[in-house]
Amino acid sequence: MKDERGMRLVFASNNAHKLSEVRAMVPAGVEVLSLKEIGFDQEIDETGTTLAENSRIKADTVAAYISSQPSSIRHQIDGVFADDTGLEIDALGGKPGVYTARWYLMCDNRCAKGDEKISGSPLHDEMMIFKANRAKALRELAGESNRDCHFKTVITLITNNQECQVEGIVRGRIAEAEYGEGGFGYDPIFIPEGYDKTFGELPAEVKNSISHRAKALTELVKLLKA
Ligand code: IMP
Repeated sequence: MKDERGMRLVFASNNAHKLSEVRAMVPAGVEVLSLKEIGFDQEIDETGTTLAENSRIKADTVAAYISSQPSSIRHQIDGVFADDTGLEIDALGGKPGVYTARWYLMCDNRCAKGDEKISGSPLHDEMMIFKANRAKALRELAGESNRDCHFKTVITLITNNQECQVEGIVRGRIAEAEYGEGGFGYDPIFIPEGYDKTFGELPAEVKNSISHRAKALTELVKLLKA
């Protein structure tokens, strides 16, 4: 890691919830800059077919932007990292996976193959999207006794023009209904293994000590220290 000022990394995400979790989890000596703080205001198209590809696309896009900045700015930044996360539900063959963010737009499981991406109307409010995604998960698993699933996060780190990836997984199960208002996304319906409450009910400190993102970040920090 760098000397007096520590290490300054850009987090390649527009998701304010992820940013605050990441900032709460990184060790002292690592400063996390948001996209806004470096003046990056583009939408990044997640065109990959895996979490690893989408994570790389986000990191590469922001790294290219940083490279195009004047050297006075470039030299303030030690690297960039991106997080791509998916929920993988066993009884649904790993769905929604790479489509986790916009799952509500996809046709239900019982639709004919090939119809999978039939969409409803896109929502524009983040909280409404989260709610619609959770409703879809509960609908898809109605009457299903196997509610096992996991969250997976793939983080891509680019430092000194070198790229590497780490991942973190937390296993758990989908609740029968929504519980709690903490966290974001699918948290009110995800019960982590070893607990009987959802991430929406558990304190943020608990989520941040056992989550997929926490595990991936632990691996990231090992790389930074290597
Ligand atoms: P992405 O990594 O930004 O593509 O995130 C995909 C989606 O996964 C988000 O829009 C959320 O709905 C969901 N998600 C990501 N991380 C979490 C989490 O920590 N808890 C619950 N849902 C999450």
